[in-house]
Amino acid sequence: MTRRPSVPPPAHTPRRPNLGAGEVFAKFLDSRGLRFTRQRRAVLERALSFETHFSAEDLAHGAYQDGKPVGLVTVYRTLALAVQCGILEERDFRRGRKYFDKVHGRGHHEHLICLSCAGVQELWDDRIHRLLQEIASRIGFEPESYDLRVFGTCKDCAARAALDARGRRRVR
Ligand SMILES: [Zn+2]
Ligand SMILES: [Zn+2]
Repeated sequence: MTRRPSVPPPAHTPRRPNLGAGEVFAKFLDSRGLRFTRQRRAVLERALSFETHFSAEDLAHGAYQDGKPVGLVTVYRTLALAVQCGILEERDFRRGRKYFDKVHGRGHHEHLICLSCAGVQELWDDRIHRLLQEIASRIGFEPESYDLRVFGTCKDCAARAALDARGRRRVR
């Protein structure tokens, strides 16, 4: 018996510049009886403009620096709504604060987190998705979502550590 995959394959569409995120958000707010206020629009636009993961504080700080301050409470609430409607996903990189990741138009990906420099690399590989699906299906588990984080040492930090070790040997 073949099982119908319960998780749709990740949408690895080429990176279009946030096509439709605003419309998706507007529809979502409407369905909740919430208004797409100027402040909410400002937060969403700023969230979509980040090239990488960002925190609510990063967003509020950027808005403040541009002379268009938005209250932190509005930032938190708007980001939470964007997560609920699937435009953003929350990430925990063990940095003591929550980070946000733009997933709308980018699809699912994993994260490699360096414990030395706290750098985060994104990993895109459909094989992970297929393997998890196969394993889950074999044990009769229907996955809805998953979040894979790999903690370790990045290439640069590993090279620096090797260099340091060599330097120490020479001094002795
Ligand atoms: Zn990411
Ligand atoms: Zn590193």
